[in-house]
Amino acid sequence: MDRPKPRRVLGTAEKPYEDTLTANSHLMGAVSPSSESLLSSETSTINETERFVCPICNEEMVSLAQLNRHLDDAHTDVPTSAKPSWLKKSVAKARQLPTVAALNRLSRLDLFDESPASSTDDTRTPSPAPEVTRAHWKLPSDNEKCSQPSCRKKLSIRTPFGNCACCGNLYCTNHLKFRMRLAQDATHDPQNGIWSTVCEICYTSRPGYMDSTGAQKSLTSAFSKLRATAIASKRLEANRLENRLTRYVENMSLLPSKPPFYARLTYSNKVHEIEQSVVPWEKDQDIAVCRYCSRNFSISLRKHHCRLCGQVVCSDSATNCSIDIDIQIVPEAATEKNDPKTVSVRMCKRCRMILNSRVSSRKSSTSDSPFLRAYMVLTQFQVGIKDTLPRFEALLEALSDESAPPNKEQLHEAKKIRQKLLDSFTQYDIAAKRILNFPTQSETQKKLQKSIYAQSVSFLQTHMLPLQNLPKNFSSQRASSTASPEPGLSEEQVVSLRQKLIVLEEQKFMVKEMINNARKSRQFDAIAALEQNGAELDNEISKLQLQLGNSVSA
Ligand SMILES: [Zn+2]
Ligand SMILES: [Zn+2]
Ligand SMILES: [Zn+2]
Ligand SMILES: [Zn+2]
Ligand SMILES: [Zn+2]
Repeated sequence: MDRPKPRRVLGTAEKPYEDTLTANSHLMGAVSPSSESLLSSETSTINETERFVCPICNEEMVSLAQLNRHLDDAHTDVPTSAKPSWLKKSVAKARQLPTVAALNRLSRLDLFDESPASSTDDTRTPSPAPEVTRAHWKLPSDNEKCSQPSCRKKLSIRTPFGNCACCGNLYCTNHLKFRMRLAQDATHDPQNGIWSTVCEICYTSRPGYMDSTGAQKSLTSAFSKLRATAIASKRLEANRLENRLTRYVENMSLLPSKPPFYARLTYSNKVHEIEQSVVPWEKDQDIAVCRYCSRNFSISLRKHHCRLCGQVVCSDSATNCSIDIDIQIVPEAATEKNDPKTVSVRMCKRCRMILNSRVSSRKSSTSDSPFLRAYMVLTQFQVGIKDTLPRFEALLEALSDESAPPNKEQLHEAKKIRQKLLDSFTQYDIAAKRILNFPTQSETQKKLQKSIYAQSVSFLQTHMLPLQNLPKNFSSQRASSTASPEPGLSEEQVVSLRQKLIVLEEQKFMVKEMINNARKSRQFDAIAALEQNGAELDNEISKLQLQLGNSVSA
């Protein structure tokens, strides 16, 4: 066999004929359904003139693509016996190779001599990479200067310069050292933007630059969705088990409790029938160990089936992997004939737990839990305070109007509302403390209580501010009015309280400093302790302020 010139689609490397053909068929095997028939053409088409002749009807073709189409159109159902066996083998081999498209991408050369018409809808050419627009870029004038106010260097060939990709202004390269992600329209896009060089002004004025907290995202809705599905699936499982239990007990209660000896066999058959109708049992020959205590089953550790889930478990009384639970059925009409009956049901650990938790959750139906009631009280005070505060603030503004001295009614009204607010704050504080000290064993509950309390402390801090402003306001008003001050505390007491307040405030400042330092050195457990400390100080301070406020207004 002489060596034919390898066809250009395979590159220029000289290869023995057989090799070239198999390599070629490897690649073509996976291209299209017609590839097998195409391959059969190879033997007759490889020649010096690069003419393509259909191997079946001997029609001449101009290009390989045309022959390919012709084979598809005219000879789709060629009997497989028409092809030589070595070809079939190589085709089978080729089928296991990656697709030609993938190979093309790897080698970046086209294996097919395609007509221009078919290449117009070629999807293999990669789409151009997205770019940030440059339409807004400023062109340099003759006397261009760096846009950085502190620089103003003349920009020329000697001082290299460029455009800020964001604002488009011109800067010397010394002032183009920031990078941030920009969308294609040159706006800041921290998520999917393209990294671009920008000026300092654009970098520092981007939204979120001054945020110390970083990007925030509320996951509450995602959490509640997850929680809802988790609860729903749990409820579904509990429902299923409950239904099985009901069915089991009902059916079993219909059987006579003590069968006569001659009916023992039919009785046990009936029991088995009921059990299987409730839930099909797991095949016990496949199970070697108890799924709860992981011990091997043996003569002393027998296999049992849970009547509710059908799984194989042991019945060791030490581990309680499964136990018999007696369920008493109280007949609706107690006659001599049907006295209370007990049906015993074997339940595994898991089924028992699911059913128990359902029963206990029913008992503590959320609406009348004392903790929830305490929380409702807290929120009621909160709502009350939020409603009253704006009214009080409006009054305060009217009182502090220099041009119009307040009349007695206004003063009286302000005093009344202030007292009401102070009472609400005190009540609110008490309610919050009650939640904090609510007795509980659960760690999660404890955490929840602490969080509610922390929230209430910050609520007090933010909403008591206008009240703190008042004493001064009031006393000045009172000095102008004829009424004499009647403080609840003596002058000395007020002074000592004030001093105490100052000391506490100094301490709080120090704690804040310490928290900042701990943050810098990343001592997170220290931060938690310090923050607790700070919260206590806040509490003390607000108490003192309350006392002082009371003494002036009383
Ligand atoms: Zn043909
Ligand atoms: Zn810029
Ligand atoms: Zn500059
Ligand atoms: Zn066990
Ligand atoms: Zn079970």
